[in-house]
Amino acid sequence: MNLALVPFDDRDGWIWLDGAFKPWREAKLHVLTHALHYASAVFEGERMYEGRIFALEEHTERLFRSAALLDFEIPYTKAAINRASTEVCERNNFSDCYVRPIAWRGSEQLSVSALNTRIHVAIAAWAWPKYFDEAKLKRGIRLCWAAYHRPPANAAPTAAKAVGLYMICTISKNIAERNGYEDALMLDSDGNIAETTGTNIFFVRDGALHTPIADCFLDGITRQTIIHLARESGVIVHERRIRPEELPSFSECFVVGTAAEVTPVGEIAEHLFTPGALTFSLKERYEELVRQPPAPHEHVGEGAALRVGCEPCSPKLSA
Ligand code: PMP
Repeated sequence: MNLALVPFDDRDGWIWLDGAFKPWREAKLHVLTHALHYASAVFEGERMYEGRIFALEEHTERLFRSAALLDFEIPYTKAAINRASTEVCERNNFSDCYVRPIAWRGSEQLSVSALNTRIHVAIAAWAWPKYFDEAKLKRGIRLCWAAYHRPPANAAPTAAKAVGLYMICTISKNIAERNGYEDALMLDSDGNIAETTGTNIFFVRDGALHTPIADCFLDGITRQTIIHLARESGVIVHERRIRPEELPSFSECFVVGTAAEVTPVGEIAEHLFTPGALTFSLKERYEELVRQPPAPHEHVGEGAALRVGCEPCSPKLSA
C-alpha cells in the first residue's frame, strides 16, 4: 500500500498525546479548538536516523522558544519531550522516520484572547524517505517565484515555527506544484531572496557559499549545520542580502531542511543551475553527520550538530 495515499487520521500506530500514548486513530481534538480557528500552534519537524533523532535537543529548544513567541508555555519539561519524541518512534517500530511534535491552545476559550486555554502537546512519527522525488534530486528541483513574500520580523513572530506562518507557504507551494515546479522561492518584504516554503537556500559562486540572512524566516537547524560543515572544510560562507538579479552570477544552488536534507536546485524560474561538486560534497557530509553514532559522553538523543561544535546553533536558537 502506498502510504502517501493513506489519510493521516486513518493509520495504524501510536501517537503521544498530552503525556500518554494513544492509538493513532484516537488522537483527536474538537472542532472548536483555539488553534484551528486562530493558528495558536507551533510545531517541529525532526528526522530519526538509525534510531537517533538528529539534533533532537535543538529541535525541542526551538519548540519551546516558538511557544514562548506565541505567548504560551509548554506544560512539560524539555527532557520529557525529548524522551517522548524518541519513544514514539520506538513504539511505532521506526528507526528511520520523520517526527512531528506540535503544541497548541485547546477549546476552553474561542476568541482572539486565549488566556484561559489549556496547552496540548502531541508527537507523531511516520515514514518519510525523501521530501522531493528521488529521480529529480540529481538534476536538481525546479523552483518558481512564490505568490507571497515573507512578512518582516516586525509583522509576525518570524523566528517561531508557528503554523500561521505556513498559510502563505501552502498557497505558494500549491501554485508551484500546479505549474509543474517542485517548490516556490519566497522574497522578503524588501525584495531580497528569503527561503522556499519549507527550506533555507544556498548559492555557490567561485567556491564560496552565499545564503540570505535569516532575520525574517526560520534560521533552520540544517542551515546552521551546513554553514558549520562548510566552514569546517575551509569554504567561505557569506550570510548577506541576496537580490534576485544576482541569480545569473551563481553556478550552483541547493536548499536545505530537516525533511528536504540537502537538495540540489536545477532551476529558479528561468535561471538554470548545474548541481556541482560543492553541493554534492556537502550533501554527502550532511548525510554522514546525521548518522554519526553519539560519542560515549553524550546522553541518548543528543544532536550531532552539537558534537561537531556547531557554534551558531545553541546561542541563535535560544536567542
Ligand atoms: N524554512 C521553513 C519555512 C521550514 O519549514 C523549514 C523546515 N523546518 C526550514 C526553513 C528548515 O528548518 P530546519 O533545517 O530546522 O528543518
